[in-house]
Amino acid sequence: MTKKYVYSFGGGKADGKADMKALLGGKGANLAEMAGHQNLRLPVPMGFTITTEVCNYYLKNQRKYPAGLKEEVHQAMKKVEQLMEKKFGDAENPLLVSVRSGARKSMPGMMETVLNVGLTEKTIVGLIKKTGNPRFAYDAYRRLITMYSDVVMEKAAGVEPKDGRGIRAQLEEILHHLKKEKGITNDADISAEGLQNLCATYKAKIKQVLGKEFPDTAEEQLWGGVGAVFSSWNGKRAISYRRIEGIPDEWGTAVNVQSMAFGNMGNNSCTGVAFTRNPGNGENQFYGEYLINAQGEDVVAGIRTPAPINEYSQSDHNQDLPILSEHNPKVYKQLEDIRSRLEHHYKDMQDIEFTVEEGKLFMLQCRCGKRNGPAAVRMAMDMLAEKLIVKEDAVKRVTPAQLDELLHPIIDPKEESSAKLLGKGLPAGPGGATGQIVFTTDDAVNWHKQGKQVILIREETNPEDVEGMRAAEAILTARGGMTSHAALVARGWGKCCIVGCSEIEIDLKTKIMHVGGVSLKEGDWITLNGTKGKFYHHRLTMVDATQENKLFNNFLKVCDAIRTLNIRTNADTPEDAAKARGFGAEGIGLFRTEHMFYGRHSEEPLFKLRKMIVSKDTAERRKALADLFPHVKKDIKGTLEAMHGFPVTIRLLDPPLHEFVPHHKDQLQELADSLGIDMSELEKRAALLRESNPMMGHRGVRLGITYPEVTEMQVRAIFEAAVELTQEGKKIFPEIMIPVICTVAELKHQKGIVEKVDKETCTKYHVKEIPHLFGTMIEVPRAALTANEIAVEAEFFSFGTNDLTQMGFGFSRDDIGGFLPDYLEKHILPEDPFQSIDLAGIGQLISLAVSKGRSVKKNLKIGICGEHGGDPASIDFCHKMGMNYVSCSPYRVPIARLAAAQAVLNTPMVGETKNKKGKK
Ligand code: PEP
Ligand code: MG
Repeated sequence: MTKKYVYSFGGGKADGKADMKALLGGKGANLAEMAGHQNLRLPVPMGFTITTEVCNYYLKNQRKYPAGLKEEVHQAMKKVEQLMEKKFGDAENPLLVSVRSGARKSMPGMMETVLNVGLTEKTIVGLIKKTGNPRFAYDAYRRLITMYSDVVMEKAAGVEPKDGRGIRAQLEEILHHLKKEKGITNDADISAEGLQNLCATYKAKIKQVLGKEFPDTAEEQLWGGVGAVFSSWNGKRAISYRRIEGIPDEWGTAVNVQSMAFGNMGNNSCTGVAFTRNPGNGENQFYGEYLINAQGEDVVAGIRTPAPINEYSQSDHNQDLPILSEHNPKVYKQLEDIRSRLEHHYKDMQDIEFTVEEGKLFMLQCRCGKRNGPAAVRMAMDMLAEKLIVKEDAVKRVTPAQLDELLHPIIDPKEESSAKLLGKGLPAGPGGATGQIVFTTDDAVNWHKQGKQVILIREETNPEDVEGMRAAEAILTARGGMTSHAALVARGWGKCCIVGCSEIEIDLKTKIMHVGGVSLKEGDWITLNGTKGKFYHHRLTMVDATQENKLFNNFLKVCDAIRTLNIRTNADTPEDAAKARGFGAEGIGLFRTEHMFYGRHSEEPLFKLRKMIVSKDTAERRKALADLFPHVKKDIKGTLEAMHGFPVTIRLLDPPLHEFVPHHKDQLQELADSLGIDMSELEKRAALLRESNPMMGHRGVRLGITYPEVTEMQVRAIFEAAVELTQEGKKIFPEIMIPVICTVAELKHQKGIVEKVDKETCTKYHVKEIPHLFGTMIEVPRAALTANEIAVEAEFFSFGTNDLTQMGFGFSRDDIGGFLPDYLEKHILPEDPFQSIDLAGIGQLISLAVSKGRSVKKNLKIGICGEHGGDPASIDFCHKMGMNYVSCSPYRVPIARLAAAQAVLNTPMVGETKNKKGKK
């Protein structure tokens, strides 16, 4: 059998179905499902889908089609003609079709569409006769001419408009002049005759500008449209959107050819977009907008303010417009019924497009609706409660990035209540954002590159603005509704966004905007509350709102019930430990001892540490260490206490000592005085500590080997703190961790010290034992390769993937910024290996170390404490490796809880799960 390139749908039947998205694109697959599935059989205008394989063929073969395609299309068109009882290109009873794109993943507005294909000088006569409505026919014709000349004759033909003004802009200018001349503001008020003349003027203009006649056969228009949609896969904005969204180039788009349903046949016709639940906050309410007497493109383009479909969808901006449920209750009831059938069928929120042609409802599209983070969490939890989905589905419904949105700051409520309100619009993207205003995409991108925080202000956004929208902290538009381009894109990215603020007046020439009685120039600060749709003058403070959020916490509890990895945190202070506990951390995976010598209240311990560092012999060093001891003990005790009930991994001193030697003369003098030595002696001692490659120098365990008394002091501080807290009734589990080892001999040496101090502390406090673990970091490739030897001496491993990546790649973690951008741009590396574990290389080291370690000690506890511990893809890998826990910064703990649960659902079960979650 030859390959099938065309799939028909409509009339209660379909060749395709919902799970064929790769071949039919999202739109095509769902049209087939809506039309053909026995639960649905919705009123879908008859049509067919040309597959994504044809797109790839077309783009690879100099815009040629595979053999047999034309015949298949011809046959499919015949089916449509039979069902619709119309004929494509017929002068008496013409069939008109739409030609639309549809990739596997939705790419809102990034590719092309041509409507009303099949209207010609010949067929328009038949259309007028059939409908008795010349105004409608010429309106449809002028739309076809505009779209076709822009999409097919200019863009797909590769014509670069000379003065930057494309044919569409030039045609719209003609329309604008016509309206001005006749004193009309609304397109719908142009007479039939006016539109007929407009069509003729348009065609003449096209001939003049593009040097070609507007095609006057239905067949030519159809293939022109199909080719243009395929070509738009490689259009600039589609490519740039794919880069941002990580959509592979080889997916290609399908083309959907569908008989037209006209929303512009008078006041009994309309077109609309709706969501089966509110995509802005997740409420279980039907939410949508529609336009009377219009075609679909008008809604998404944000040209006219759409009306609400029901009371729930009303806002300050559309409250005077007729509500669909009142304007056409029969259609609204039908839509409500479809809403519930779609949700029960797809078990998820759907984003639908519909058209009503003279009172008859048609479904043009349905797809899984984009939603922001708060809405994703609410919908998942509501649908779980409604028993529409099970907990595994709920966990899969929220992406780590969406959860991250809930962690985003909001405006400090106190400041917000007294701030100067500039205006209100529709709340299209949640959270707060503050920044300097810019008015063009280029400025947004350039200012962002200079490290500035910007808010992009636009009349309305269109797909050309994606880069600027990406660079901006938030987006504010004067026009458009919740379904406009800006709203869709921002929602997809979880970006703060307000649309449709009609009070804004923008002067692009002077880069000034007027709103709320204030004139703001480029660079002025404003602050947006995207959840409420309000924005304010000046820069307001942002605060964190998560811990109050009940829904957020309940959702994470569902994740906890599924995940098997424990989630710990990297915390160096009691405050960080408490914050992380609030986010649900189950212990500390990395307490970096040296952090007590940085920042607040560090002066005294730092001074004592410096004395220790520049000591000339063991006796002097022991004296300095004794001085330092109470500080270290207090610090460790504070954090152990804040995390009581959970394990705390305390890493012994890691950085090269010279990092702590003061640079300022007066500090050096003070140190010299305190040691009773002169400056030249101190400088000599400091010079001895200097290294040419400190990251590979005298650091980590090497300090403990050369100065065992340093290890001894720290271990004593840990044990004494643990015993004292235990005696106060706290449950304390310290885990002593040795950094940067490369051979088991280092670990054995340090273990001797730990065992000695353990005994001494037991004797001092009259206790039998101090519960603790002794283990090491695996962060040097040699340690990973000899993990079986190391595991003999260690009770746990913690992967220090920052250093492991540094030493595995030979990339300095501090200097990679100098060449990484080139590596990414030239595709030498797919991503920054310091952000997400490089599975092919560093992943192998980890995998080897895990299996070698566990081959010696079956129950070896294994975790990760490098930055990768908070990265969802790396967490997935850690789960697959059978690790016991991941450890990340406090703010990433919630994301890690979700990613760990998703890792379980992403991993096929092979017998028993290896890593059962336990208390420790
Ligand atoms: C690591 O190397 O991954 C690690 C956690 O240690 P540090 O970042 O302190 O070197
Ligand atoms: Mg390290």
